[in-house]
Amino acid sequence: MLGTAPTMSVPATPARGARAAFRRPGDAATVPPGYYEVLEPLLPQVRKPAQYVGGEHNQVVTPWLAAQTRWLLCYPDTYEVGQPNQGIQILYELLNERATALAERAYAPWTDLEALMREQGIPAFSLESHRPVWAFDVFGVSLPHELGHTNLLNLLDLGGVPIHADRRTAEDPIVLVGGHAAYNPEPLAPFVDAAVMGDGEQVTLEIDDVVRAWKAAGGSDRRQLLRELARVEGVYVPAFYEPRYTPDGRLKQTVPIESGVPTIVPKRTIQDLEEWQYPQKQIVPMTETVHERFSVEIFRGCTRGCRFCQAGMITRPVRERRPETIQKLVEEGVRNTGFEEVGLLSLSSADHSAIGPVARDLADAYEGTVTSLSLPSTRVDAFNVTLSNELSRNGRRTGLTFAPEAGSERMRAVINKMVSEADLLRTAEVAFSEGWRHIKLYFMVGLPTERDEDVLAIADLGIKTYEIARRHGRANKVTISVGGFVPKPHTPFQWAAQDSPEEIKRKLSLIRHAIKDHGGLKLRTNDPEEGVIEGLLARGDRRVAAAVERAWRLGARFDGWHEMPTLDTWRQAMAETDVSLEWYSHRERDEKEALPWDHLDSGLEKSWLWEDWQDARSDKQLDDCRWSPCYDCGVCPGLSIQHDTGYTGGFQLPVLPSHLGGKDTLPTTPERYASGG
Ligand code: SF4
Repeated sequence: MLGTAPTMSVPATPARGARAAFRRPGDAATVPPGYYEVLEPLLPQVRKPAQYVGGEHNQVVTPWLAAQTRWLLCYPDTYEVGQPNQGIQILYELLNERATALAERAYAPWTDLEALMREQGIPAFSLESHRPVWAFDVFGVSLPHELGHTNLLNLLDLGGVPIHADRRTAEDPIVLVGGHAAYNPEPLAPFVDAAVMGDGEQVTLEIDDVVRAWKAAGGSDRRQLLRELARVEGVYVPAFYEPRYTPDGRLKQTVPIESGVPTIVPKRTIQDLEEWQYPQKQIVPMTETVHERFSVEIFRGCTRGCRFCQAGMITRPVRERRPETIQKLVEEGVRNTGFEEVGLLSLSSADHSAIGPVARDLADAYEGTVTSLSLPSTRVDAFNVTLSNELSRNGRRTGLTFAPEAGSERMRAVINKMVSEADLLRTAEVAFSEGWRHIKLYFMVGLPTERDEDVLAIADLGIKTYEIARRHGRANKVTISVGGFVPKPHTPFQWAAQDSPEEIKRKLSLIRHAIKDHGGLKLRTNDPEEGVIEGLLARGDRRVAAAVERAWRLGARFDGWHEMPTLDTWRQAMAETDVSLEWYSHRERDEKEALPWDHLDSGLEKSWLWEDWQDARSDKQLDDCRWSPCYDCGVCPGLSIQHDTGYTGGFQLPVLPSHLGGKDTLPTTPERYASGG
């Protein structure tokens, strides 16, 4: 995407000159400087300058002095990657609706602008008013994965905020992280004031109340503010906890060292998505972004039980939006944004209990217009093709994507991806015969218990699918996309050893070799080295923080971008801080070992996760608990709800997986929805 980054030396923090005149608590009459005037002349010198300008349709600019609390919501990557993030868009609307709050947004400047900013003493800024990070009360950072950690440190430093939480005073913002990577914030523990686990809607408003009350009371004792934040359900304040280690270096336990804080911090779950109908006025990007569409989240959570999938595990239980709400959100969204594409989002969109009627009604509503509908879904079955046919009435039948994830039946049993080869080939047959031209198949290598025959089965499945494609048209295409597996916390694979990049490379070359005589079958692979940093940060403990800081000081930025020469930097940082990749990533853990996230409760019982890990190792599959008896993962009883439906349900879901005798035709509207009950 972008060019090679300049080598970084130890960064110099921009001047904080204006800050002397600006005091947060008790200084309601002062306004921090806006930096647009000094930024603008620099923009012709950088790539994609439009990403730094702001002024997008639907942005909200609240006068600084009109607010009592000021939030800067940040996605620690470029604008093109971060702008479509739904979490930030939702919190942005929620906060800006409050008469007492304002929320602005920030993204990471690319290295070309960063160099100029450091040279000219321009701090990291918000997009709306170009005000510095240091001037806000709360710097809330979304971490959907671990590869933004060094960018977070960079934004703090560039934004004039001490990177270490214990060096911050009452005049500095509270640094919050949320998102999936916040379920193990230990590698960031010295740098963040608090991590928020779970759904952000309600807890963000409660945090806002706490900050506002603290400021109104004078706002001088930062530790007191942290104590009050730690009392909010779902908020973890790392400074109030201490990890203890055994003599051999393993973690023994992470314990509270401050009275009144919970021993185990629970995640936050909103019970009814209907009460949180956001975003309604999605911000329309100023320049090209990774997704340019209006997105509606049709349900949250997933109970399919794929053992590698952290998102599926930590977002349980399933909570659906009603069909009429989805319809309304789509209509308003299209009207408010002018987007020509609508995405129906969730972890497995075809699993919404009324997806058939939803798809049909939307397709009816937009037939003959410029609005196209898409279902970013991964379920491998012919029902999904039927849905895609409905949604593509307005457009060409170009590409469909499925994620069998593993090549062999045995491997799919290990990861609990319940799809058979026959399912996949039948789906491909249906898709190509109905006019689809391209199927992309997603796989992983490096999964637990994997053997070479499992790896080769990926190539085999790709070839078989390609043969079907060719039978239906010589121009039809099949692409297999293969990435390296990274074990994640709060999943049954949290105990597994991660493959080294060399081993992943070897496995990828097996696939490459096996398909070499099938020229039309395309193979796409990720750089195996990208999983190294993600794996270390995903399961690292607090000692890994030293490597994060060192890597950043050595110049690590944008760790997820393959253009960035960061792995050597990281290897040097790990060596200098005594962090062993072998120990953190390539080693299997045993049942007794404490894990760095044991004091953070995702709702799943650790004993159930261990049991599921044992089932994985004996190739034993587990049904989706929405259609089968509860297997006691712990989430529903912990949240006091009935097991089969999620919060907004009350009926048995009609779409059965095909191996349980399900249908591939669109189901009729479930009775509950039809009656509006
Ligand atoms: S508690 Fe039972 S019903 Fe609820 S998500 Fe876990 S297994 Fe499924």
